[in-house]
Amino acid sequence: MANTPYPQSYYAASANAVPPRPVLQGEVETDVCVIGAGYTGLSSALFLLENGFRVTVLEAAKVGFGASGRNGGQIVNSYSRDIDVIERSVGPHQAQLLGQMAFEGGRIIRERVAKYQIQCDLKDGGVFAALNSKHMGHLESQKRLWERYGHTQLELLDERRIREVVACDNYVGGLLDMSGGHIHPLNLALGEAAAVESLGGTIYEQSAAVRIERGANPVVHTAEGRVRAKFIIVAGNAYLGNLVPELAAKSMPCGTQVITTAPLGDEVAKTLLPQDYCVEDCNYLLDYYRLTSDKRLIFGGGVVYGARDPANIEAIIRPKMLKAFPQLKNVKIDYAWTGNFLLTLSRLPQVGRLGDNIYYSQGCSGHGVTYTHLAGKVLAEALRGQAERFDAFAGLPHYPFPGGQMLRTPFAALGAWYYGLRDKFGM
Ligand SMILES: Cc1cc2nc3c(=O)[nH]c(=O)nc-3n(C[C@H](O)[C@H](O)[C@H](O)COP(=O)(O)OP(=O)(O)OC[C@H]3O[C@@H](n4cnc5c(N)ncnc54)[C@H](O)[C@@H]3O)c2cc1C
Repeated sequence: MANTPYPQSYYAASANAVPPRPVLQGEVETDVCVIGAGYTGLSSALFLLENGFRVTVLEAAKVGFGASGRNGGQIVNSYSRDIDVIERSVGPHQAQLLGQMAFEGGRIIRERVAKYQIQCDLKDGGVFAALNSKHMGHLESQKRLWERYGHTQLELLDERRIREVVACDNYVGGLLDMSGGHIHPLNLALGEAAAVESLGGTIYEQSAAVRIERGANPVVHTAEGRVRAKFIIVAGNAYLGNLVPELAAKSMPCGTQVITTAPLGDEVAKTLLPQDYCVEDCNYLLDYYRLTSDKRLIFGGGVVYGARDPANIEAIIRPKMLKAFPQLKNVKIDYAWTGNFLLTLSRLPQVGRLGDNIYYSQGCSGHGVTYTHLAGKVLAEALRGQAERFDAFAGLPHYPFPGGQMLRTPFAALGAWYYGLRDKFGM
């Protein structure tokens, strides 16, 4: 029997204690079988349980094994492509619905943390940092755009103000979102899993779904068992492989890398990020960073198209960290890891139904901590027969990557190379 552990990371090393979870053996019957115990799966399970459904979650490895337990921990609102792109792709009613929902995921996280008393080091405040005047112009129009949809808690930072929140000379300004913030991502997932179980849901670990028998009464098969369900929610995202071929064709797993320094001590940490906000810059291939509760710097960036694991993560990410904070040149890196997110061609999430009873959400393309929590709510609404918000997502247009399975990685890498050049020259 396979026993896949967490990858070595700061998060795995500082995870809250959890009970062992069973492997599925034999047959169980449930209302909803959720495939994948990341935020999408766990958020769906929680909303469904709160609404009286019986829920069984199948996880191939461990709760939060995927991106949800490895990410930068940044609560970033809105979507990986912004509402202006959505406005150009869909009609006004759909755009209005999606715009209104753009900040809901962050609220859901805070409600979950408060309701289920999840210990995950939640902090308020996220900064988008502008490296040049073009970025700053973009942030100004983004603020105006978000305000049109009722999101008014945003503050533009000029060059003097951004120096007060981050000790990095590279920025000309920024945008502060106090409804953004940061969390210990794996502990959030573990807390949500405990909440699922407290409401009577069951989570099987080391229990990969290997086949879905579709039809009026679908069955999900694992190596040693099967789940008979009225509905299935597919939430395997970048780790799903080819279980559902229709989903594999329109998305591409990509790796991104994160490093964590040794503890910096309170004094040094305070000089870097005095208010303890998290930061991401405005480049297409962006850098993101924040402090942990024990005052380490977590720094992420870099994308590997096609999700091959790089041989030396520190060699890729440390120079980026030192570009932002040269004062850390003698600081040791304690942890380095990689994780996969799912890229779509439009960089908008893919949501929909396969037949009447298989639902999915995937492909948030980089920014997914808030969206996945919203996705769980929207999927649960659809299963309860209130599908207006689900349909707003499901109606977003999606296209396969050019070149099919063989050529999608080189094509996307070429696109990223082009955008990387634009980042470099501030275009
Ligand atoms: C390194 C990194 C840094 C990131 N940083 C940020 C950030 O700071 N802010 C932000 O907003 N977003 C960030 N993201 C993106 C964000 O983490 C993801 O969008 C989000 O966590 C996706 O959640 P998910 O539940 O859809 O997928 P995942 O968390 O990947 O969960 C999918 C789960 O499904 C399981 N699974 C797959 N196939 C099967 C199967 N056949 N049977 C059973 N289980 C299966 C997997 O084992 C996995 O546990 C980052 C991503 C990465 C990789």
